[in-house]
Amino acid sequence: MALKKLVAGNWKMHGLSADLSEIEAIATAARDYPNVDVALCVPAILIERAARAVPGFSIGGQDVHDAEQGAHTGCTSALMLLDAGASLTIVGHSERRDAQRESNEEVRAKAEAALSVGLDVILCIGESFDVRERGAAVDTVTAQLDASLPPSLEGEAELAVAYEPIWAIGTGKVPTGPQIAEMHATIRARLRARYGADGTHVRILYGGSVKPSNAGEIFAIADVDGALVGGASLKAADFIPIVAAAAAVEGQGTIA
Ligand code: PEP
Repeated sequence: MALKKLVAGNWKMHGLSADLSEIEAIATAARDYPNVDVALCVPAILIERAARAVPGFSIGGQDVHDAEQGAHTGCTSALMLLDAGASLTIVGHSERRDAQRESNEEVRAKAEAALSVGLDVILCIGESFDVRERGAAVDTVTAQLDASLPPSLEGEAELAVAYEPIWAIGTGKVPTGPQIAEMHATIRARLRARYGADGTHVRILYGGSVKPSNAGEIFAIADVDGALVGGASLKAADFIPIVAAAAAVEGQGTIA
């Protein structure tokens, strides 16, 4: 069963007040593609202004702390994200796993904290180039996924998994179609093993150098239920053609 595609932008550490007009442009243009869910994950400090600027459009955070509140200087709780107007958050992005040394256990706790307050979650996993080169990508990503997933899916909030090979992020390099298909099929099997029938409904996004020029091909691969997009999400002129590519693939067959 094909799931409705989700195309989410990750603005990383980009975005000032002046860029709210770009968020408005993206939200307005996204309305032309009702068969695709579209979201933008912006810097925490921009969430409230973005959510006010584009009511009804999904604005998300890029990280969340697992505690409800407390002595965690500089951190943002799930309730704070929600309170600011976010409806989702990314957890476990490779840039945080690397720079902030986030473990799978922390990522799982963050996912649970976000889901428990009703925030949808995009949980990122992916292998390094070295791991891919030595033929250990599937085993490594499987282990990372198993250790990062929340134990159960309860409540209304949705979990999505983003497969993002680290070597493809911001590099212009993209895995081959069969490599993406193999990884997404593996992730689907693990989700079913963990959640039973509910694992069939968890969207699996691909992330890493998605562009207007390659999006259609990527979205046509089986079990690619959308994309997490970094650089190409900053401008409507790049991002909306990716959304359009997802819309065009909806209802068509996928390539196993
Ligand atoms: C990302 O960082 O999540 C990402 C996919 O970046 P890019 O699209 O720029 O490769």
